[in-house]
Amino acid sequence: MDADFVNQLIDAAQRVVASGAISANGHGNVSLRVPDSDEMYFTAGPSLRNHAASAVVRIGLDGTLREGELPPIQGAVVAMHTAMYADNPDVGCVLHTHSPFATAYAVAHRPIGCWVEALAMFGLPTGVPVAGYGPRGSEQAVANIRAAVTPGVPAVLLANHGVLVFHRTPDLAIMVGGIVEEAAQAGIRAGSIGGPVEIPDELRAAALQRAMAFEAKGTARV
Ligand SMILES: [Zn+2]
Repeated sequence: MDADFVNQLIDAAQRVVASGAISANGHGNVSLRVPDSDEMYFTAGPSLRNHAASAVVRIGLDGTLREGELPPIQGAVVAMHTAMYADNPDVGCVLHTHSPFATAYAVAHRPIGCWVEALAMFGLPTGVPVAGYGPRGSEQAVANIRAAVTPGVPAVLLANHGVLVFHRTPDLAIMVGGIVEEAAQAGIRAGSIGGPVEIPDELRAAALQRAMAFEAKGTARV
């Protein structure tokens, strides 16, 4: 086990907890792809809260456990992580939680629309899709995730289960997880005052372009 990857993974788990985009019991899992290899490091503990370094495992992208102890309940979701790495060569981190507001949409089988600007700015201009239900980590569940995700989309709701986020780095995955949760919370709260209103299609690209121009110039005067 490489201590650097273990530390990066524990650090990412702590930052997911600190972000608040997680259920009260802290359930979830994070994985990191080892660059230029066929393996990942994975949190095999029951909760991301105070996740022990000793509970990190190393797993081949074919799903084979290579080092550490993997309880069956955590092993069941490994295939969701490995599938995202297999499908997306750029993805370096996969994050799964039951963050409460996003999970409410997943339970209702309702996609999150693009009614929060940050979704348009961070790869979700068409909102967050829902992958149909299948028992966690099953072939059916993984096939449903693959069917729901279009190229470039970094997050998907898992029907009757939770949220899956996959991105180049832990920082980006954690940020997108927080944005999805925030959008879900806003959507549910807006439901009591007439419902959320989506950003018009043509302005979603504008939101992204403005963010990119701002980043390039370091000024809002673009
Ligand atoms: Zn789960």
